[in-house]
Amino acid sequence: MTEHQEVRRRRRRRRRPAVRLVLGGICLTAAVLLALSGRRLPGEGVEVPEDVEQALLTVNEWSRPGEPLRKINGVVIHYVGNPATTARANRNYFESLSSGAEGTYASAHFIVGLEGEVLQCIPLTEIAYASNSRNGDTVSIEVCHPDGTGEFLPETYDRLVELTAWLCQEFRLDPETEVIRHYDVTGKLCPRYYVENPDAWERFLADTAAETEHFPQD
Ligand SMILES: [Zn+2]
Repeated sequence: MTEHQEVRRRRRRRRRPAVRLVLGGICLTAAVLLALSGRRLPGEGVEVPEDVEQALLTVNEWSRPGEPLRKINGVVIHYVGNPATTARANRNYFESLSSGAEGTYASAHFIVGLEGEVLQCIPLTEIAYASNSRNGDTVSIEVCHPDGTGEFLPETYDRLVELTAWLCQEFRLDPETEVIRHYDVTGKLCPRYYVENPDAWERFLADTAAETEHFPQD
């Protein structure tokens, strides 16, 4: 070993603890960030409006898989497709799927009923089985309707506007572009009336945008 090499070796040795400290710091920061990002879901700690009735499904493979909803990039509107059924009946249908007997995967975060009542079936920290490829980053709302046209009653419509506007405010979503129909995801005729009558859908988005502006900005 030449003297020159010996000096270099010593220098390297001296530098090592400092390098280790810096590397350790970086690893620790990364670990803390990872832990934080893993724990903090967008729907965590969010208090739903008081008039939303809690009717959570039991965790099960078919309608409430319990998977974390890591991003909320939109709201997807559906119609139940079963005229004159109540929000409660539709919630119980989702619950009944848990037996697996039907082999059907289906659910939604919220159901808005014929009298404007709202049931919550899935927490905002978990995914629902409603919107196919968008299950992983959207909140879903099923809406009841009195007949086969799929048009919502005024009470139902108003409550849906309020609920959707609240979600837009809470998750910083643009009502004009980030509130979509199931149809916009898969081309399915859902929600029927608002696919067949695009003007009515545009009106719904405008009403939701106007309602969102009522919330105080923070
Ligand atoms: Zn749908």
